[in-house]
Amino acid sequence: MQLCDLSETIDLGDQAALITYLNLQPVCPKCQQRLSDRVFDRWRYGRRVLCSGCGVQITWRSGTPFDGSRHSSTKLRRIVEGRADKADPVKVAQNCGIDVRSVKDWWSRLDVYEALTGIAGA
Ligand SMILES: [Zn+2]
Repeated sequence: MQLCDLSETIDLGDQAALITYLNLQPVCPKCQQRLSDRVFDRWRYGRRVLCSGCGVQITWRSGTPFDGSRHSSTKLRRIVEGRADKADPVKVAQNCGIDVRSVKDWWSRLDVYEALTGIAGA
């Protein structure tokens, strides 16, 4: 995985990469109902969708470590890939425009999430 060939203009690709990393299925994290085809594209694009099962509004970030984060998907992907590549956290922080402590916090959070969910072959 490359850190340097990412651009803010390919946010859909960044979201797809994060959805793949998280091994997310298009299901509601609250009631597990599969999202309808009608809302799938909106979900995949990071838009808020209404679950027809429980009526809760969700995005693909709901129930993931990225829930509530204001970082762009591009930035989150850089954090995820920097960790996978065992990159220097200082460089990842510079690349993302955030401080190095935040990068390390994200990496610890992802360690926990991977251990709990078994994603990323952990
Ligand atoms: Zn639901």
